[in-house]
Amino acid sequence: MSTVLTENLSRANSTPDAELRSRRKRIVIVGGGFAGIAAARALRKVDAEVILIDRRNHHIFQPLLYQVATAVLAPSEIATPIRQLEARQKNLSVVLAEVTGISLSGRTIEAIHPGLGLRKLGFDYLVVAAGMRPSYFGHDEFALYAPGLKSLNEAETIRTKILSAFELAESTEDDAERARQMTFVLVGAGPTGVELAASIAHMVSITLRNNFRRIDPARSRIVLVDGGNRILPTFAESLSRKVERRLARLGIEIRTGLKVEKVDEQGVVAGHDRIASATVLWTAGVAASPVVKMLGTKTDRAGRALVGPYMEIGEAGDVFVVGDATSMTQDDHPVPGVAQAAIQQGGFVGRLIANRVTGRKDGRPFRYHSKGNMAVVGKNFAILEAGRLRTSGFATWIVWTVLHVLALPQLQNRFRVQTQWFWSYLTGQRSSRLITEAPRPIDPGKQKSAP
Ligand SMILES: Cc1cc2nc3c(=O)[nH]c(=O)nc-3n(C[C@H](O)[C@H](O)[C@H](O)COP(=O)(O)OP(=O)(O)OC[C@H]3O[C@@H](n4cnc5c(N)ncnc54)[C@H](O)[C@@H]3O)c2cc1C
Repeated sequence: MSTVLTENLSRANSTPDAELRSRRKRIVIVGGGFAGIAAARALRKVDAEVILIDRRNHHIFQPLLYQVATAVLAPSEIATPIRQLEARQKNLSVVLAEVTGISLSGRTIEAIHPGLGLRKLGFDYLVVAAGMRPSYFGHDEFALYAPGLKSLNEAETIRTKILSAFELAESTEDDAERARQMTFVLVGAGPTGVELAASIAHMVSITLRNNFRRIDPARSRIVLVDGGNRILPTFAESLSRKVERRLARLGIEIRTGLKVEKVDEQGVVAGHDRIASATVLWTAGVAASPVVKMLGTKTDRAGRALVGPYMEIGEAGDVFVVGDATSMTQDDHPVPGVAQAAIQQGGFVGRLIANRVTGRKDGRPFRYHSKGNMAVVGKNFAILEAGRLRTSGFATWIVWTVLHVLALPQLQNRFRVQTQWFWSYLTGQRSSRLITEAPRPIDPGKQKSAP
């Protein structure tokens, strides 16, 4: 039976079905991303109280975040209120709150509810699906100048930075400052860095064409920096080389094998070389959400929980970690931090808990089934690696387009994204070119740490 302490969200004690409800197991899921939603859905038929807690009221389709950051799509086109997404699941309550503490021995979590303060909530089963956050490899001060890309806020910050840079370049009388405003540095050449760089390249050469009188946006400099020896290290080398050539054709400078030593208001220092830039974007590293640390369990260097074969931590078998926040190897390879893995893990744990609640036996341990890995490089070009299959080019781009539209969580998102893409494809225009906050000089005194 659930050991609910100070707060019981169902407030069951005063209702006629109080006894019945208090006998039901309570399953708390932290995080409404791909893994958390999949876990909740797998529990839809269970006679249990399922509570999904997220600090945001919306689920984000992260694979298209870079398109919000580059003004192709509006934030609402890739995000859906979690409440609306799961409205038909009657055993599920959605709670807007930030989890700040977990007591495994007390079987409670603590969460700050906006406007209401700290509350405690008991659980019988706990599923942590809290994802990752940008990591600056011990240099949290870089966050002030180089936003990462994990949330809609960050995507909008990046969009504002990019668009403002052209406004300032148009207005300044200083040649060096103009060049600094028109230089974009992306740190990290994984899929997100590559997708962002290519999208910025199309924006400067097509979308912004003829929009300015004193500058030519097509003369912008876009630099992709990475400490590794090649871009897209999670893809086969042949695909990575193809993408390199594609990026070069778009005018993007690729600087691999360079360690970023400093990021400040003037730009970056990488490999002892300063690149003056007003827009530095961080797509290099990620670390697990601090929620994992609250579990007091073993983690890898990125703070991800080392989970057992059933995604469990500890001995009791009632606390699980799923999605990006886990570290798991399968056949000597790490299970990748991608949406498919998160969905499969969330669904697996949801079904496992459903079995346990109803007294059925556990099935087989978790196994990840990869459906392939894709990345898009601007207009008309994508790459796909699935087992031994490696493809690239226009047909692959069509496949990428169709798969991403179908994967969006709601019909209205699919319709809106398709329409925007179609318009953008035909005209080169981007419909979300809004500077919602005027650019301000950064005050290092008010430095925030990495989110
Ligand atoms: C820019 C970008 C592009 C990507 N592109 C692709 C791609 O093309 N293909 C692909 O397969 N994968 C891609 N990924 C990876 C994919 O999005 C992740 O693997 C997936 O989102 C992981 O799902 P998750 O549920 O584990 O975490 P998330 O989706 O990150 O969800 C975590 C949730 O937990 C919540 N949360 C965190 N901390 C707390 C707290 N303290 N209290 C309450 N709630 C909390 C967050 O608000 C969030 O809603 C991309 C990721 C990014 C950032």
